[in-house]
Amino acid sequence: MNKPKGTMDQLPREVIKWRHVEEKFREICHRYGFDEIRTPTFEFTSLFKRGVGETTDIVQKEMFTVISDANLRKYHEGKFDLDKRGFTLKPEGTAPVVRSFVENKLYADAQPTKLFYITPCFRNENPQAGRLREFHQVGIETLSAMNPATDAEIIALAKNYFEELGLRDLTIKINSVGCKSCRPVYHEKLKTFLEPRLDQLCETCQGRFHTNPLRILDCKVPTCQAAVKDAPRLIDHLCEDCQTHFSGLKDALDAFGIPFVVDSRIVRGLDYYTKTAFEIISENIGAQATVCGGGRYDGLVEEVGGPETPGVGFGLGIERLILTLEAEGVAFPDPEPTQVFIVVLGEAAKLTGLGILKALRDAGIKSDFDHLERSLKAQMRYADKLSAAYTLILGEEELKSREVTVKHMASSTQESVKIDEIPDYILAHLGGRR
Ligand SMILES: [Zn+2]
Ligand SMILES: [Zn+2]
Repeated sequence: MNKPKGTMDQLPREVIKWRHVEEKFREICHRYGFDEIRTPTFEFTSLFKRGVGETTDIVQKEMFTVISDANLRKYHEGKFDLDKRGFTLKPEGTAPVVRSFVENKLYADAQPTKLFYITPCFRNENPQAGRLREFHQVGIETLSAMNPATDAEIIALAKNYFEELGLRDLTIKINSVGCKSCRPVYHEKLKTFLEPRLDQLCETCQGRFHTNPLRILDCKVPTCQAAVKDAPRLIDHLCEDCQTHFSGLKDALDAFGIPFVVDSRIVRGLDYYTKTAFEIISENIGAQATVCGGGRYDGLVEEVGGPETPGVGFGLGIERLILTLEAEGVAFPDPEPTQVFIVVLGEAAKLTGLGILKALRDAGIKSDFDHLERSLKAQMRYADKLSAAYTLILGEEELKSREVTVKHMASSTQESVKIDEIPDYILAHLGGRR
């Protein structure tokens, strides 16, 4: 049996890295005053259609919609409305958080609401492109605050996180994608500019011309990049409100001591972004890697049925982050070695050994014994493989005297210790190394 295409097993040596980046994220979020939220793995399909946007690649071709066997039969009989009652595995983290904010009336609490999440996400991507169908995201959202300093705080948190993980040479790119009053005006200007160049655009962008022309600006196809080279820039056509917000963001980033560049090509893929859009790029590994993207989404809460509420956040893929950290040669924590291995000779010694094992584990000491009933020599070899700091050797003699030989593996010295005193002896000797 094989795993499905586009999924991944996280083997123990990989999980150490995952836990490291997740725990660091939790710790940073805590420092910045964000609380963890967990939402279901699947939601009603309509949430993503409304909250991600009908014109996005995600909604148009990447969602996994799930249906129970019973409803599948009804669906084939034409008695189940998949659009209304179908579920979709979450393709991103923000819409579910916003749905939960509305459904649980978190807006009635003291505001803002500052939340973070760590979640698997699912998209029907082409695995040949190195993209997974089940991938993992961490992200944060601040709801109810219009303040540009709130946007700057989000960027500051992301930068702080990457730096504490050990990433260097980060570039922060910011832009404003306007709002529902200035963006449509700009759309018309952009379309007027692009119309005579339509035949230079890739097939996807020819579709975007009608649905989401802003996205043509960040298309990676070279002919598209050439076509938009001299396109009018949205930041030159912002309304007064968006302009004020953008300069407020720049002031707040300066105040946080965060260098940035303005890049009018940063538009983000999702329909609900307004005003601030940003990306953080790691420049150190030759190829530029976008490690994080986010922005403001002032219309989203209303879109999913809540009161008019501004929001800003970011999300980032854990897989890509770990690849970037590995490419930069960042050190991950070592696995914690077994501290004590109990070598036993004979059935009576084994049972006494199990009692000692329990006492050691109760004292918080990582310890184990021979599960395979090997010879003395083979048990010692196995203890070596585990890099156990101490080995206890337990035979007939030791049972009689109630004293055990404790071998310190690094120095090959050994000592006799009373059975009852073993946990204390080990704790005292492990000292600061635990
Ligand atoms: Zn505006
Ligand atoms: Zn294109």
